[in-house]
Amino acid sequence: MKLIGPFKQIIPMTGLPTKGAITDNQLEIVADGGILVEGDRIKTIGKFDDLVKVTSLNDTEIHELKGDHTCLPGFIDAHTHICFSGSRANDYAMRNSGKTYMEISKAGGGIWDTVTQTRKASKETLTKGIVKRAKRHLANGVTTIEVKSGYGLSVTEELKMLYAIKDADELLPVDLVPTCLAAHMVPRDFEGSPAEYLEQITSELFPLLKTEKLTNRIDAFIEEGAFYPLLIEPYFKKAKELGFDITVHADQFSTGGSEVAIKYNAISADHLEASTDIEIQHLAKSNVIATALPGASIGLGCNFTPARKILDAGGAVAIASDHNPGSAPMGDLLTQAAILGTFQKLSNAEVLAGITTRAAAALNLTDRGRLSSGCLADLSIFHTADYKEILYNQGNFKPCMVWKKGALAYNKHKH
Ligand SMILES: [Zn+2]
Repeated sequence: MKLIGPFKQIIPMTGLPTKGAITDNQLEIVADGGILVEGDRIKTIGKFDDLVKVTSLNDTEIHELKGDHTCLPGFIDAHTHICFSGSRANDYAMRNSGKTYMEISKAGGGIWDTVTQTRKASKETLTKGIVKRAKRHLANGVTTIEVKSGYGLSVTEELKMLYAIKDADELLPVDLVPTCLAAHMVPRDFEGSPAEYLEQITSELFPLLKTEKLTNRIDAFIEEGAFYPLLIEPYFKKAKELGFDITVHADQFSTGGSEVAIKYNAISADHLEASTDIEIQHLAKSNVIATALPGASIGLGCNFTPARKILDAGGAVAIASDHNPGSAPMGDLLTQAAILGTFQKLSNAEVLAGITTRAAAALNLTDRGRLSSGCLADLSIFHTADYKEILYNQGNFKPCMVWKKGALAYNKHKH
Protein backbone atom coordinates (compact mmCIF):
# COMPACT_ATOMS: atom_id res chain seq x y z
CA MET A 1 0.00 0.00 0.00
CA LYS A 2 0.95 3.63 -0.46
CA LEU A 3 0.07 6.64 1.64
CA ILE A 4 0.17 9.98 -0.17
CA GLY A 5 0.03 13.30 1.68
CA PRO A 6 -0.29 15.40 3.68
CA PHE A 7 -2.59 17.61 1.62
CA LYS A 8 -3.80 20.98 2.91
CA GLN A 9 -7.00 20.12 1.07
CA ILE A 10 -8.43 17.05 -0.59
CA ILE A 11 -11.51 17.84 -2.70
CA PRO A 12 -13.02 14.37 -3.21
CA MET A 13 -16.01 15.57 -5.34
CA THR A 14 -18.20 13.05 -3.49
CA GLY A 15 -21.79 13.46 -2.36
CA LEU A 16 -22.65 15.82 -5.23
CA PRO A 17 -25.76 15.43 -7.38
CA THR A 18 -25.24 14.49 -11.04
CA LYS A 19 -27.79 17.08 -12.12
CA GLY A 20 -28.48 20.70 -11.33
CA ALA A 21 -26.65 23.71 -9.91
CA ILE A 22 -24.02 23.21 -7.18
CA THR A 23 -22.56 25.84 -4.85
CA ASP A 24 -19.01 25.85 -3.55
CA ASN A 25 -20.42 25.28 -0.06
CA GLN A 26 -21.53 21.84 -1.18
CA LEU A 27 -17.92 20.78 -1.83
CA GLU A 28 -16.58 18.47 0.80
CA ILE A 29 -13.05 19.47 1.86
CA VAL A 30 -10.78 17.10 3.78
CA ALA A 31 -8.21 19.28 5.57
CA ASP A 32 -4.69 17.93 6.29
CA GLY A 33 -5.68 14.78 4.50
CA GLY A 34 -3.97 11.68 3.22
CA ILE A 35 -4.89 9.10 0.61
CA LEU A 36 -4.21 5.44 1.21
CA VAL A 37 -3.84 3.52 -2.04
CA GLU A 38 -3.95 -0.24 -2.53
CA GLY A 39 -2.93 -1.36 -6.02
CA ASP A 40 -4.70 0.89 -8.51
CA ARG A 41 -7.52 1.86 -6.13
CA ILE A 42 -8.14 4.23 -3.27
CA LYS A 43 -8.50 2.36 0.00
CA THR A 44 -9.16 5.17 2.47
CA ILE A 45 -9.17 8.95 2.66
CA GLY A 46 -8.73 10.59 6.04
CA LYS A 47 -6.51 12.76 8.20
CA PHE A 48 -2.90 12.14 7.19
CA ASP A 49 -1.68 11.84 10.78
CA ASP A 50 -4.34 9.26 11.61
CA LEU A 51 -3.50 7.25 8.49
CA VAL A 52 0.21 7.31 9.38
CA LYS A 53 -0.60 5.80 12.78
CA VAL A 54 -2.91 3.15 11.37
CA THR A 55 -0.47 2.09 8.70
CA SER A 56 2.81 2.36 10.60
CA LEU A 57 2.76 -1.32 11.56
CA ASN A 58 2.52 -2.76 8.06
CA ASP A 59 4.55 -2.26 4.93
CA THR A 60 3.09 0.95 3.59
CA GLU A 61 5.25 3.24 1.44
CA ILE A 62 4.74 6.82 2.54
CA HIS A 63 4.95 9.46 -0.21
CA GLU A 64 5.32 12.51 1.95
CA LEU A 65 4.73 15.85 0.24
CA LYS A 66 6.63 18.95 1.36
CA GLY A 67 4.85 22.30 1.26
CA ASP A 68 1.21 23.08 0.52
CA HIS A 69 -0.65 20.72 -1.77
CA THR A 70 -4.26 20.28 -2.82
CA CYS A 71 -5.59 17.10 -4.40
CA LEU A 72 -8.48 16.65 -6.81
CA PRO A 73 -9.62 13.62 -8.78
CA GLY A 74 -7.71 13.17 -12.06
CA PHE A 75 -9.57 15.18 -14.68
CA ILE A 76 -11.65 13.49 -17.37
CA ASP A 77 -11.81 14.90 -20.89
CA ALA A 78 -15.04 13.38 -22.19
CA HIS A 79 -14.86 14.56 -25.81
CA THR A 80 -11.76 14.75 -28.03
CA HIS A 81 -10.67 14.05 -31.58
CA ILE A 82 -6.94 13.66 -30.87
CA CYS A 83 -6.48 10.88 -33.44
CA PHE A 84 -5.71 12.87 -36.59
CA SER A 85 -3.02 13.95 -39.00
CA GLY A 86 -2.33 17.35 -40.56
CA SER A 87 -3.09 20.92 -39.57
CA ARG A 88 -6.02 23.22 -40.26
CA ALA A 89 -4.10 26.49 -39.97
CA ASN A 90 -5.59 27.50 -43.34
CA ASP A 91 -9.10 27.15 -41.93
CA TYR A 92 -8.09 29.42 -39.06
CA ALA A 93 -6.85 32.07 -41.47
CA MET A 94 -9.96 31.79 -43.69
CA ARG A 95 -12.32 31.89 -40.72
CA ASN A 96 -10.70 34.98 -39.29
CA SER A 97 -10.95 36.72 -42.64
CA GLY A 98 -14.70 36.25 -42.56
CA LYS A 99 -15.47 32.84 -44.07
CA THR A 100 -18.01 30.68 -42.23
CA TYR A 101 -17.51 27.07 -41.07
CA MET A 102 -19.82 25.90 -43.86
CA GLU A 103 -18.09 28.04 -46.50
CA ILE A 104 -14.67 26.71 -45.52
CA SER A 105 -16.01 23.17 -45.64
CA LYS A 106 -17.51 23.72 -49.10
CA ALA A 107 -14.18 25.21 -50.29
CA GLY A 108 -12.32 21.98 -49.46
CA GLY A 109 -11.23 22.76 -45.92
CA GLY A 110 -12.99 21.63 -42.79
CA ILE A 111 -13.37 18.03 -41.67
CA TRP A 112 -12.74 16.58 -45.16
CA ASP A 113 -9.24 18.08 -45.21
CA THR A 114 -8.42 16.22 -41.98
CA VAL A 115 -10.01 13.05 -43.40
CA THR A 116 -7.67 13.26 -46.40
CA GLN A 117 -4.58 13.77 -44.22
CA THR A 118 -5.62 11.08 -41.73
CA ARG A 119 -6.23 8.52 -44.47
CA LYS A 120 -2.72 9.18 -45.82
CA ALA A 121 -1.15 8.55 -42.40
CA SER A 122 -0.19 5.06 -41.26
CA LYS A 123 -1.72 3.59 -38.13
CA GLU A 124 1.70 3.96 -36.44
CA THR A 125 1.87 7.67 -37.30
CA LEU A 126 -1.61 8.18 -35.87
CA THR A 127 -0.66 6.34 -32.69
CA LYS A 128 2.40 8.57 -32.26
CA GLY A 129 0.24 11.69 -32.62
CA ILE A 130 -2.25 10.46 -30.01
CA VAL A 131 0.55 9.60 -27.57
CA LYS A 132 2.13 13.05 -27.97
CA ARG A 133 -1.18 14.86 -27.37
CA ALA A 134 -2.32 12.60 -24.55
CA LYS A 135 0.96 13.15 -22.70
CA ARG A 136 0.29 16.87 -22.72
CA HIS A 137 -3.22 16.26 -21.38
CA LEU A 138 -1.72 14.10 -18.64
CA ALA A 139 0.68 16.88 -17.63
CA ASN A 140 -2.40 19.11 -17.35
CA GLY A 141 -4.01 16.71 -14.89
CA VAL A 142 -6.18 14.71 -17.30
CA THR A 143 -6.10 10.97 -16.53
CA THR A 144 -8.95 9.74 -18.77
CA ILE A 145 -9.44 10.92 -22.36
CA GLU A 146 -12.27 10.02 -24.69
CA VAL A 147 -10.96 9.77 -28.28
CA LYS A 148 -13.18 9.64 -31.35
CA SER A 149 -12.61 8.15 -34.77
CA GLY A 150 -14.44 10.01 -37.55
CA TYR A 151 -11.62 11.11 -39.85
CA GLY A 152 -11.58 7.75 -41.64
CA LEU A 153 -15.16 7.61 -42.95
CA SER A 154 -14.92 4.17 -44.50
CA VAL A 155 -14.99 0.77 -42.84
CA THR A 156 -11.23 0.25 -43.34
CA GLU A 157 -10.13 3.75 -42.37
CA GLU A 158 -12.37 3.94 -39.30
CA LEU A 159 -10.90 0.61 -38.19
CA LYS A 160 -7.36 1.98 -38.70
CA MET A 161 -8.16 4.93 -36.43
CA LEU A 162 -9.72 2.76 -33.72
CA TYR A 163 -6.73 0.38 -33.77
CA ALA A 164 -4.41 3.40 -33.50
CA ILE A 165 -6.36 4.56 -30.43
CA LYS A 166 -6.16 1.06 -28.95
CA ASP A 167 -2.39 0.92 -29.54
CA ALA A 168 -1.89 4.38 -27.98
CA ASP A 169 -3.94 3.32 -24.95
CA GLU A 170 -1.53 0.43 -24.38
CA LEU A 171 1.49 2.78 -24.55
CA LEU A 172 0.13 5.34 -22.07
CA PRO A 173 -0.67 5.45 -18.37
CA VAL A 174 -3.74 7.56 -19.26
CA ASP A 175 -6.95 5.66 -20.08
CA LEU A 176 -8.25 6.32 -23.57
CA VAL A 177 -11.98 5.75 -24.07
CA PRO A 178 -12.58 5.09 -27.78
CA THR A 179 -15.72 6.20 -29.64
CA CYS A 180 -16.74 5.40 -33.21
CA LEU A 181 -17.76 8.58 -35.04
CA ALA A 182 -18.16 7.08 -38.52
CA ALA A 183 -21.11 9.51 -38.96
CA HIS A 184 -18.93 12.64 -38.68
CA MET A 185 -19.78 13.79 -42.21
CA VAL A 186 -20.91 12.18 -45.44
CA PRO A 187 -17.69 11.02 -47.14
CA ARG A 188 -17.29 12.85 -50.42
CA ASP A 189 -15.91 9.82 -52.23
CA PHE A 190 -18.68 7.39 -51.21
CA GLU A 191 -20.52 6.09 -54.24
CA GLY A 192 -24.07 6.09 -53.02
CA SER A 193 -26.48 8.10 -50.91
CA PRO A 194 -25.78 9.21 -47.31
CA ALA A 195 -28.34 6.62 -46.15
CA GLU A 196 -26.42 3.91 -48.04
CA TYR A 197 -23.18 5.02 -46.39
CA LEU A 198 -24.76 4.71 -42.93
CA GLU A 199 -26.22 1.33 -43.90
CA GLN A 200 -22.73 0.11 -44.86
CA ILE A 201 -21.32 1.36 -41.53
CA THR A 202 -24.03 -0.27 -39.43
CA SER A 203 -23.96 -3.58 -41.28
CA GLU A 204 -20.19 -3.94 -41.83
CA LEU A 205 -18.38 -1.82 -39.20
CA PHE A 206 -20.64 -2.09 -36.13
CA PRO A 207 -20.33 -5.90 -35.79
CA LEU A 208 -16.53 -5.63 -36.15
CA LEU A 209 -16.36 -3.04 -33.37
CA LYS A 210 -17.91 -5.66 -31.12
CA THR A 211 -15.87 -8.68 -32.19
CA GLU A 212 -12.58 -6.73 -32.20
CA LYS A 213 -13.52 -5.04 -28.89
CA LEU A 214 -12.65 -1.63 -30.33
CA THR A 215 -15.36 0.47 -28.66
CA ASN A 216 -18.74 0.36 -27.02
CA ARG A 217 -19.64 3.93 -27.92
CA ILE A 218 -21.25 5.30 -31.11
CA ASP A 219 -21.40 9.00 -32.02
CA ALA A 220 -22.84 11.06 -34.89
CA PHE A 221 -22.68 14.70 -35.96
CA ILE A 222 -26.26 15.87 -36.41
CA GLU A 223 -26.16 19.12 -38.35
CA GLU A 224 -26.95 20.76 -41.64
CA GLY A 225 -24.15 19.65 -43.97
CA ALA A 226 -23.55 16.52 -41.87
CA PHE A 227 -26.46 14.21 -40.92
CA TYR A 228 -29.98 15.46 -40.32
CA PRO A 229 -32.12 13.79 -37.63
CA LEU A 230 -34.27 11.51 -39.81
CA LEU A 231 -31.24 10.25 -41.71
CA ILE A 232 -29.36 9.27 -38.57
CA GLU A 233 -32.16 7.40 -36.79
CA PRO A 234 -31.57 3.96 -38.37
CA TYR A 235 -27.85 4.28 -37.40
CA PHE A 236 -28.68 4.91 -33.75
CA LYS A 237 -31.45 2.31 -33.79
CA LYS A 238 -28.92 -0.31 -34.94
CA ALA A 239 -26.35 0.90 -32.40
CA LYS A 240 -28.94 0.53 -29.62
CA GLU A 241 -29.91 -2.97 -30.78
CA LEU A 242 -26.27 -4.03 -30.60
CA GLY A 243 -25.93 -2.60 -27.09
CA PHE A 244 -23.66 0.38 -27.80
CA ASP A 245 -23.74 3.52 -25.68
CA ILE A 246 -24.77 6.53 -27.74
CA THR A 247 -23.39 10.05 -27.71
CA VAL A 248 -24.30 12.86 -30.09
CA HIS A 249 -22.73 16.01 -31.57
CA ALA A 250 -25.89 18.05 -31.10
CA ASP A 251 -27.23 21.60 -31.57
CA GLN A 252 -23.83 23.09 -32.53
CA PHE A 253 -25.07 25.47 -35.25
CA SER A 254 -28.73 24.46 -35.48
CA THR A 255 -31.14 22.52 -33.27
CA GLY A 256 -32.46 19.00 -33.80
CA GLY A 257 -29.60 16.89 -32.45
CA SER A 258 -30.48 17.10 -28.76
CA GLU A 259 -33.99 15.76 -29.46
CA VAL A 260 -32.44 12.73 -31.16
CA ALA A 261 -30.08 12.29 -28.19
CA ILE A 262 -33.04 12.24 -25.80
CA LYS A 263 -35.11 9.94 -28.05
CA TYR A 264 -32.30 7.36 -28.20
CA ASN A 265 -31.44 7.73 -24.52
CA ALA A 266 -27.90 8.90 -25.31
CA ILE A 267 -25.37 9.07 -22.48
CA SER A 268 -24.44 12.59 -23.55
CA ALA A 269 -25.34 15.35 -26.00
CA ASP A 270 -22.29 17.48 -26.75
CA HIS A 271 -21.91 21.08 -28.02
CA LEU A 272 -25.44 22.59 -27.58
CA GLU A 273 -24.24 26.10 -28.40
CA ALA A 274 -27.44 26.63 -30.43
CA SER A 275 -29.85 25.06 -27.92
CA THR A 276 -32.80 27.31 -27.10
CA ASP A 277 -34.96 27.29 -23.96
CA ILE A 278 -37.05 24.43 -25.39
CA GLU A 279 -34.02 22.15 -25.92
CA ILE A 280 -32.66 23.16 -22.50
CA GLN A 281 -35.93 22.21 -20.78
CA HIS A 282 -36.08 18.86 -22.57
CA LEU A 283 -32.44 18.07 -21.80
CA ALA A 284 -32.86 19.01 -18.15
CA LYS A 285 -35.80 16.60 -17.80
CA SER A 286 -33.83 13.76 -19.41
CA ASN A 287 -30.87 11.75 -18.13
CA VAL A 288 -28.68 12.91 -21.01
CA ILE A 289 -25.53 14.69 -19.82
CA ALA A 290 -25.00 18.03 -21.58
CA THR A 291 -21.32 18.28 -22.48
CA ALA A 292 -20.10 21.83 -23.04
CA LEU A 293 -17.13 22.26 -25.38
CA PRO A 294 -15.73 25.74 -24.68
CA GLY A 295 -12.63 25.00 -26.79
CA ALA A 296 -14.83 24.93 -29.91
CA SER A 297 -16.50 28.22 -28.94
CA ILE A 298 -13.10 29.82 -28.43
CA GLY A 299 -11.79 28.31 -31.67
CA LEU A 300 -14.75 29.43 -33.77
CA GLY A 301 -15.42 32.68 -31.93
CA CYS A 302 -19.04 31.73 -31.28
CA ASN A 303 -21.42 31.37 -28.34
CA PHE A 304 -20.65 29.18 -25.38
CA THR A 305 -22.96 26.31 -24.47
CA PRO A 306 -25.68 27.79 -22.21
CA ALA A 307 -24.30 25.88 -19.22
CA ARG A 308 -25.80 28.22 -16.59
CA LYS A 309 -29.30 27.83 -18.01
CA ILE A 310 -28.95 24.06 -18.31
CA LEU A 311 -27.81 23.74 -14.69
CA ASP A 312 -30.53 26.09 -13.41
CA ALA A 313 -33.13 24.08 -15.33
CA GLY A 314 -31.85 20.98 -13.47
CA GLY A 315 -29.64 19.47 -16.16
CA ALA A 316 -26.21 17.88 -15.85
CA VAL A 317 -23.23 19.68 -17.40
CA ALA A 318 -19.88 18.09 -18.18
CA ILE A 319 -17.06 20.11 -19.77
CA ALA A 320 -14.67 18.71 -22.38
CA SER A 321 -11.96 20.10 -24.66
CA ASP A 322 -13.20 18.87 -28.07
CA HIS A 323 -9.45 18.84 -28.88
CA ASN A 324 -9.36 18.62 -32.69
CA PRO A 325 -7.29 20.15 -35.49
CA GLY A 326 -10.12 22.29 -36.89
CA SER A 327 -12.16 24.17 -34.31
CA ALA A 328 -10.32 23.37 -31.06
CA PRO A 329 -6.55 22.93 -31.53
CA MET A 330 -5.68 24.22 -28.02
CA GLY A 331 -6.67 21.08 -26.15
CA ASP A 332 -6.25 22.56 -22.69
CA LEU A 333 -9.22 21.36 -20.65
CA LEU A 334 -8.49 23.29 -17.45
CA THR A 335 -8.02 26.63 -19.25
CA GLN A 336 -11.18 26.14 -21.28
CA ALA A 337 -13.23 25.04 -18.27
CA ALA A 338 -12.07 28.11 -16.32
CA ILE A 339 -13.02 30.40 -19.22
CA LEU A 340 -16.44 28.76 -19.56
CA GLY A 341 -16.90 29.31 -15.81
CA THR A 342 -16.19 33.03 -16.20
CA PHE A 343 -18.52 33.58 -19.16
CA GLN A 344 -21.33 31.36 -17.89
CA LYS A 345 -21.02 32.33 -14.21
CA LEU A 346 -20.42 28.81 -12.98
CA SER A 347 -19.29 28.08 -9.42
CA ASN A 348 -15.93 26.42 -8.82
CA ALA A 349 -17.94 23.35 -7.82
CA GLU A 350 -19.85 23.27 -11.12
CA VAL A 351 -16.71 23.65 -13.22
CA LEU A 352 -14.74 21.07 -11.25
CA ALA A 353 -17.67 18.62 -11.30
CA GLY A 354 -17.83 19.19 -15.07
CA ILE A 355 -14.32 17.82 -15.53
CA THR A 356 -14.50 15.11 -12.85
CA THR A 357 -17.62 13.41 -11.55
CA ARG A 358 -20.04 14.68 -14.22
CA ALA A 359 -17.49 13.97 -16.97
CA ALA A 360 -17.31 10.38 -15.66
CA ALA A 361 -21.10 10.21 -15.97
CA ALA A 362 -20.81 11.50 -19.55
CA LEU A 363 -18.64 8.45 -20.30
CA ASN A 364 -20.83 6.08 -18.28
CA LEU A 365 -17.89 5.37 -15.94
CA THR A 366 -18.51 4.87 -12.23
CA ASP A 367 -14.99 4.06 -11.02
CA ARG A 368 -13.45 7.53 -11.36
CA GLY A 369 -14.12 11.27 -11.18
CA ARG A 370 -14.38 11.04 -7.38
CA LEU A 371 -11.92 10.28 -4.63
CA SER A 372 -13.51 7.61 -2.50
CA SER A 373 -12.84 4.09 -1.36
CA GLY A 374 -12.86 1.66 -4.30
CA CYS A 375 -12.38 4.33 -6.99
CA LEU A 376 -9.28 4.43 -9.18
CA ALA A 377 -6.38 6.26 -7.53
CA ASP A 378 -6.29 8.96 -10.25
CA LEU A 379 -5.05 12.17 -8.65
CA SER A 380 -4.38 15.73 -9.84
CA ILE A 381 -2.16 17.47 -7.30
CA PHE A 382 -1.60 21.25 -7.22
CA HIS A 383 0.94 23.26 -5.27
CA THR A 384 -1.52 25.35 -3.26
CA ALA A 385 -3.29 25.41 0.09
CA ASP A 386 -6.60 26.52 -1.46
CA TYR A 387 -8.42 24.75 -4.30
CA LYS A 388 -9.97 28.08 -5.39
CA GLU A 389 -6.54 29.15 -6.70
CA ILE A 390 -6.82 26.58 -9.49
CA LEU A 391 -9.64 27.99 -11.65
CA TYR A 392 -8.87 31.55 -10.52
CA ASN A 393 -5.59 31.25 -12.42
CA GLN A 394 -7.54 30.51 -15.63
CA GLY A 395 -5.74 27.30 -16.42
CA ASN A 396 -2.26 28.79 -16.20
CA PHE A 397 -1.77 26.99 -12.89
CA LYS A 398 -0.94 23.38 -13.77
CA PRO A 399 -0.67 20.35 -11.50
CA CYS A 400 2.74 19.59 -10.05
CA MET A 401 2.04 15.88 -9.89
CA VAL A 402 -0.41 13.47 -11.47
CA TRP A 403 -1.06 9.91 -10.30
CA LYS A 404 -2.79 7.35 -12.48
CA LYS A 405 -4.08 4.06 -11.06
CA GLY A 406 -1.95 4.41 -7.96
CA ALA A 407 1.31 5.20 -9.77
CA LEU A 408 3.08 8.52 -10.21
CA ALA A 409 2.50 9.28 -13.92
CA TYR A 410 3.71 12.88 -14.11
CA ASN A 411 5.99 14.86 -11.86
CA LYS A 412 6.64 18.48 -12.82
CA HIS A 413 9.95 18.52 -10.98
CA LYS A 414 11.28 15.77 -13.21
CA HIS A 415 10.38 17.43 -16.54
ZN1 LIG B 1 -16.44 16.91 -31.44
